[in-house]
Amino acid sequence: ATPTALLVGTGRGAQLGILIKGPEVLESTRRIDTVVLDKTGTVTTGQMTLVDAIAVDGQDSDELVRLAGAVEAASEHPIARAIARAAADQHGTLPQVSDFGNLEGLGVRGTVDGHDMLVGRPRLLSEQGWQVPVDIERATAAAEAAGRTAIVVGWDGAARGVLAVADVVKPTSEEAIAKLRALGLTPVLLTGDNTTVARTVAAEVGIDQVIAEVLPADKVDVVKRLQAEGKVVAMVGDGVNDAAALAQADLGLAMGTGTDVAIEASDLTLVRGDLMAAVDAIRLSRRTLRTIK
Ligand code: ADP
Ligand code: MG
Repeated sequence: ATPTALLVGTGRGAQLGILIKGPEVLESTRRIDTVVLDKTGTVTTGQMTLVDAIAVDGQDSDELVRLAGAVEAASEHPIARAIARAAADQHGTLPQVSDFGNLEGLGVRGTVDGHDMLVGRPRLLSEQGWQVPVDIERATAAAEAAGRTAIVVGWDGAARGVLAVADVVKPTSEEAIAKLRALGLTPVLLTGDNTTVARTVAAEVGIDQVIAEVLPADKVDVVKRLQAEGKVVAMVGDGVNDAAALAQADLGLAMGTGTDVAIEASDLTLVRGDLMAAVDAIRLSRRTLRTIK
């Protein structure tokens, strides 16, 4: 490949809103056959909204939102921001949290109003040995069946309510995935979220392969496994939890709207955070390399 042609490709990339780390990056896109896509913030907007609060055992749902919001106010996660925002809208100022802890890919913990709190994915509380009433399991299943992410809220050793959080697919995701397929690439959805929600989103945008309930540290292993099967993998992501997988992939594409850690780990940045730019990037590299031949 002549450096001049690659540099021309790099300049064209900038015009398309694609920042390319170095001219040699375009070459590695040539043999890509699989595109792994993170769900939250990549295929979806990641701008979550709290849509329902279900309290059990005679608890008050407003109190549930207030206490959960106080813990989540200390977290940067999109789910946390949705819950904290709703709590602040309902209650104004929230109580202080102490002993805050972020449980990466699982949820958060902290002390609020003298209560020892856990807020996070449904399995988190039972795994910590907390009591989970059957009504919590029912409310979780109902929220997930509706395509929502269920977050369980508990304090002092028991689960006491479920918060349903909704996210929306980005307007261009479906078209971009159809175009990736037309280029002969297989899309795979990868997420830490639950399988039901992941399948709902996948169906909405036309993805058949779903790998869900993957812990942040295990995303990189999914990429390695696909590579061990002989796949040449592009990974598109936005979060801190995607960084290792982005670096491991044959081509890492970061959403420009995502975290700095993801951008640093990637070969390409899609400035506008729009998946159509991933299609443009792959097309551009193929065109550039054809010119060189
Ligand atoms: P994704 O792979 O979709 O970006 P994450 O790995 O960040 O998702 O999170 C996986 C799951 O962990 C979430 O769907 C949620 O159930 C739970 N979780 C993570 N962080 C939080 C938090 N701050 N509050 C509540 N739940 C959380
Ligand atoms: Mg994400």
